[in-house]
Amino acid sequence: MSTLFPALSTPPAKTALDFGDHSLTYAGLAAAAGTLAQELTPGERVAVWATPTLHTSVAVVAALLAGAPAVPVNPKVGERELAHIVGDSKPALVLAEPETALPSVLDALPRTDVTAAPPAAPAPPLPAEPGEETPALIVYTSGTTGPPKGAVLPRRALACTLDALEDAWAWTEHDVLVHALPLFHVHGLILGVLGPLRRAGTLRHLGRFSTDGIRDALSGEGTMLFGVPTMYHRIAEEVGDDERLARALAGARLLVSGSAPLPVHDHRRIAAATGQQIVERYGMTETLMNTSVRSDGERRPGTVGVPLAGVEVRLVDEDGRSVGECDGETVGEIQVRGRNLFTEYLNRPDATAEAFDGGWFRTGDMATRDPDGYVRIVGRKATDIIKSGGYKIGAGEIENVLLEHPDVREAAVTGEPDDDLGERIVAWIVPGSRQPGEQELAEHVASQLTPYKRPRVVRFRDALPRNDMGKLMKRALHE
Ligand code: ATP
Ligand code: MG
Repeated sequence: MSTLFPALSTPPAKTALDFGDHSLTYAGLAAAAGTLAQELTPGERVAVWATPTLHTSVAVVAALLAGAPAVPVNPKVGERELAHIVGDSKPALVLAEPETALPSVLDALPRTDVTAAPPAAPAPPLPAEPGEETPALIVYTSGTTGPPKGAVLPRRALACTLDALEDAWAWTEHDVLVHALPLFHVHGLILGVLGPLRRAGTLRHLGRFSTDGIRDALSGEGTMLFGVPTMYHRIAEEVGDDERLARALAGARLLVSGSAPLPVHDHRRIAAATGQQIVERYGMTETLMNTSVRSDGERRPGTVGVPLAGVEVRLVDEDGRSVGECDGETVGEIQVRGRNLFTEYLNRPDATAEAFDGGWFRTGDMATRDPDGYVRIVGRKATDIIKSGGYKIGAGEIENVLLEHPDVREAAVTGEPDDDLGERIVAWIVPGSRQPGEQELAEHVASQLTPYKRPRVVRFRDALPRNDMGKLMKRALHE
């Protein structure tokens, strides 16, 4: 009996997980994961070598059934980061696909191969379901602002977030979710794999991202697409010239973007070609999902929608006082409270204590709110707020305007020390087929925003540093 995944207790006759080369029905998944769960010990952590495969999904579901906290590991992780994760989380064993070579850091751990084939004999009954505060997963943050921290996620946080998304997106058992995201972060794993399983729906995973794969899956059974902004950027570049892709996207029930800000320019290009407005949602490893545009609500480009069911959101000033205003202008740091929150950073009582203000979690993200509650993220407190000439300027607004310039393919905005201004605005640009002039870009920004928001320095690059989710690593720009 699983209350996290009722469909595994009474399996409907349908596909649960489809990875193209391998797939499982609900009965098959219950048997495969149930059998593997017998080999795990409740409360003992297991590292999961998180390739984008059916095996990884089976391993994580088995760990959840057994009450063994799973630590998903990026298979492209470097030796040093892997050593940090293993040393920090101290897993009792590692679960991996058969025949995958694992790095030597993992040699000291016992290894169990994950078979995704349903066993011949039915699995023996599972141990009693663990309590709702029991850690379900330990997920390491993306490391955008510092070394990754292990966020301990209890079972109730998973249930809370997935049920809030059901409510916001009218997500049902009839939905076939399409995605190509990695399985070691909240987005691809908790929303992308566990979401369909909790709803008794279906996941169609593409293994790797391609616009052809997206087009084919959405022309077939796919009803929803989960993506990150870099994927939608690729789609936006192609969709205007590709009628079949445009038709496939137009037919989808819901296109969802998250993990990083979706440029308004890409949102608009996709809407123009398909008539579909992407729904943005905002979440973090520590909090799971906080806000979203609702599937039946107004889509407002540049916003991440309204607080999800069970989540309280407030904006605070530098002294931690609630800003209160929903005037679309007053900027404050987002704090959140609710059953969606993690319990702690593993082995980091200092960081955990610092992250909370009473029961409120400090997100480090800065935002404004519209009168009807729509949240507009202006950037991260640590890297995206530039203090220049007495003004506080959000990098995101300038990036959005730069991206509208026909010769700008990618843009990042940062601040760097300036004797006169305190900080000066620097634009990092990946040009299109023609390299725009520095003055031209400065004037473009000054004409769309206000003159003090124009970049003082423009640096051209062939590519911008991004992690595996396509998140901009702004720290790396200055290194
Ligand atoms: P670290 O905490 O290790 O520095 P990280 O914050 O990037 O890394 P994640 O937990 O994966 O790690 O990402 C959460 C962050 O992603 C949020 O705090 C926010 O800045 C950003 N984010 C997520 N969704 C959105 C969105 N829709 N729009 C803008 N930013 C978003
Ligand atoms: Mg973070």
